[in-house]
Amino acid sequence: MFSSSMLAYRRWNMKRWPLSKGPLVTLLVAIGIEGFSRLLFDIPFVAPMFLAVAYAAFLGGLQSGLVSAAITSAYALYAFAVPGSFLVYSDNNLIRVLVVIGTSIAMALLVGGLKRRVEHDQSKILHIQHYQSLLLQSVTDSIIATDAQFRIQSWNRASETIYGWSAAEVCGKPIFEVLPVVRYLDGIDSDQAKARLKQQSFWKGQVIQRRRDGQEISIEASVRLIQDADGSTVGVVTVNRDMTEYQKAQAERTQIEERQHFLAQASSILADSLDYESTINTVTQLAIPHLADWCVIHLIGKDGTLRRPVAAHVKPELVEIIRELQQRSPIDLDANGPIIRTLLTGETQLVAEVDPVNQRAVSADDYHYRMLDVLGFKSYMIVPIIAHGYTLGAATFVSASRSYTAADLEHMQDLMRRCGMAVDNARLYHEAKEAIQTRDQLMLTVSHDLKNPLSAIKGYANFLRRRVGSMDAPEAVWLEDNLAKIDATTKKMGALLNEMLDFARLQAGQTLDLDPCPTDLITVVSQTVAEYQQATERHCIYVATSVPELVGLYDPARLERVLANLLSNAIKYSPDGGEIMVEVESISQDGEAWAAINVRDWGLGIPAADLPHIFDPFRRAGNVQGRVRGTGIGLTIARRIVEQHGGALTVASVEGAGSTFTIRLPVAVLPNAAPVSFDEASA
Ligand code: ADP
Repeated sequence: MFSSSMLAYRRWNMKRWPLSKGPLVTLLVAIGIEGFSRLLFDIPFVAPMFLAVAYAAFLGGLQSGLVSAAITSAYALYAFAVPGSFLVYSDNNLIRVLVVIGTSIAMALLVGGLKRRVEHDQSKILHIQHYQSLLLQSVTDSIIATDAQFRIQSWNRASETIYGWSAAEVCGKPIFEVLPVVRYLDGIDSDQAKARLKQQSFWKGQVIQRRRDGQEISIEASVRLIQDADGSTVGVVTVNRDMTEYQKAQAERTQIEERQHFLAQASSILADSLDYESTINTVTQLAIPHLADWCVIHLIGKDGTLRRPVAAHVKPELVEIIRELQQRSPIDLDANGPIIRTLLTGETQLVAEVDPVNQRAVSADDYHYRMLDVLGFKSYMIVPIIAHGYTLGAATFVSASRSYTAADLEHMQDLMRRCGMAVDNARLYHEAKEAIQTRDQLMLTVSHDLKNPLSAIKGYANFLRRRVGSMDAPEAVWLEDNLAKIDATTKKMGALLNEMLDFARLQAGQTLDLDPCPTDLITVVSQTVAEYQQATERHCIYVATSVPELVGLYDPARLERVLANLLSNAIKYSPDGGEIMVEVESISQDGEAWAAINVRDWGLGIPAADLPHIFDPFRRAGNVQGRVRGTGIGLTIARRIVEQHGGALTVASVEGAGSTFTIRLPVAVLPNAAPVSFDEASA
């Protein structure tokens, strides 16, 4: 057993030996010369000692050479001395001694110096080689060098990491054997790649190779032929970069972007689907083939029962099979099964790889089991359709070829959340539509039915007024006054009912039954203004007109309603009182005669944000809500009445500065018919 001190000695000895070996040889040579040349020659033949000095300097360097030169010099001093005396020399021998000393020192310096130089250069080379090797080992790309026969000569650490083979295992083996190319990815084949390498001495491209463990990896390879001065190939250097992880990450990113784009698209498509059927059809169209080969969607109806499921398959001819399976074994909410579980608990389910046991579990019978194979049943997921915390249904997505992942499930959940909102919106939309229809129907019926009792009240009031008028009783005046009030109120109620009736008809998509007759607008305006002026003391209503009359074919009662609405609004929305101006003018537009009525006030005005929608039903501006009472239907009807007369009703308004409503009506060229007076028409 080696002790550590023995090992240290051996290391020292190995290092020292070339140093001491030269002087030892020199000493032996000196002894040899002393022994042999003395027998043969008078003067010792010292030439071999120079060789010994050179040998010592070559072997042990300058130090060793100088020791050998010292031994040689000492021997010369001894050998050339006058026999029997010490350091006494004849002239000739003194010269010899000096020559030997000089030559041996020169020899030691020369060879030792040369050796030092060589050693220095060598160490430099070794240093560079060491640095290069470190560099080679530290890069993350695989760098492989071969000889002219493409046998691997150099295989860095990254090559070991990427391919799984150690340098010892592959060095000396042909590179094509160790690293065969499974396929080229740039649309070229092996022959083309080799031809390019031969032609250009360089080839770069993407390839699929196999690791030691059999796993395929994507490699970006740069191959260069190494040639000597006369152009013959001495080897190949290939730098290979493992792109597998990078490409995987790249693909995942791309996938995330694609999915986000898909969801954004889905959201906007779903936002447009206002009924349940179109929402579900949209979802199935979106899912197939993007996310699934086939899918079935079960929705729970308002009554808590299951609706007829919707199915879709990437091969439309197979949808019939899905329907048949559902008819043969419909899903029962009281039974067990994965879809019921999701419907009842809102839980998602993912089966990445369907095995026979699983397939059997979801099959109602053998036929069902076999048909799942026909449809393709490799992987599936069931995702609940939830809105506002309620499970509205469950969507089952099936892939025939790939395995779903957790990321797929998350993606589907996202889609189904949007679907849930869309289904819910569709439901709300339907409910709202139904409610509106009911309301309009009710308005139509009520306003129609109220007209008869109202006419009766009006009739009785008029009858009583006539009777009271002929009576000579002290209460007669008082009674007549009150009966006149009843009459006026029933008139107002009648106008309101007519408005409601018109509105209900318009809402139901009907047009109004106009009763047009030659009507003078100046008269209609004057009388309506007079009526409204009576009702207010804080406002002054002016009429300005440059024409004595403006006759057209109008429904006078309805036009009166339009004017009444605009005037009552001008009064209502000028709470501080003030002036109201009604201008009536005749204008010519594109060669045609038109009547224009402007109703102008300097009241609250309409905020800019509300202005474009102010004619919409039930629309009331933000600055009047909660401040002035109203229904928001007057302008809607007014505009429709004017439009049905072939005209237009527009508004210009600035909040805080006032409003101007303008009615434009075509002025008819009338035959010689006398205009109907306003009182006659509205009676
Ligand atoms: P209502 O007056 O019953 O609310 P209308 O359909 O007649 O309904 O008017 C709709 C809305 O238009 C009003 O609520 C009000 O905000 C605005 N508006 C109408 N006329 C005027 C006006 N002259 N000045 C300011 N706002 C008006």
